Amino acid sequence: MSAEWFKPGIVSQSGEVDFNYPTSKVVCVGRNYTEHAKELNNPVPESPILFIKPNSCLQNLLEPIKLPVSGECHHELEVTILIGEKATQLQPEQSASVIAGIGIGLDLTLRDVQQKLKSKGHPWERAKAFDGASPVSFFHPVNDDIEWGNIEFCMEKNGEVAQQGNTRDMIFPIDQLIAEVSQNFTLYAGDIIMTGTPKGVGALAQGDKLKFTLNQVLIGETQVV
Ligand code: ZN
Repeated sequence: MSAEWFKPGIVSQSGEVDFNYPTSKVVCVGRNYTEHAKELNNPVPESPILFIKPNSCLQNLLEPIKLPVSGECHHELEVTILIGEKATQLQPEQSASVIAGIGIGLDLTLRDVQQKLKSKGHPWERAKAFDGASPVSFFHPVNDDIEWGNIEFCMEKNGEVAQQGNTRDMIFPIDQLIAEVSQNFTLYAGDIIMTGTPKGVGALAQGDKLKFTLNQVLIGETQVV
């Protein structure tokens, strides 16, 4: 489980995967859905909360998911964006032009560790940046028809809906997020943006069977090992 074998891939209509992008950083957005901020008793932010996971966090969502050896590991189901070219200081209306693909992923979080770090005012990396902490799917190319503000996504755990969201409920929409990120950190081809989780986060356990859909299209199924 390491970035050495992971590469983001764009999946074509015929199902072939094109691995044309380097393994790069993951930029995550915290508390981008009001209901999720509430479930963890966090205030709703006035500007996007941003943090970065290193490329060693990446693993293929559709291969068996390995959890860290200890700690309560929560799933945060998120719409993921693959960046296709260098982007810096963008305005929201320029954001769509740098997107190479859309997919789905988990921002895995050791919740008990995170709570301890937060209470001390320490950075979150020990809770969110461990090896394999960002399983992501392949990415689907986007066209002009995509409604960025109306993307439905869902994860079933053991046959029941665990997390379900729609990008219309985002506090900061995708075009604004990409612009804001690019104004803080230059983005490069291969970078991945995780756009925040809706409510319903919870612990994963060995043996859990997971199924992912994006706009009612099955992205794939996997198991926690
Ligand atoms: Zn998250």
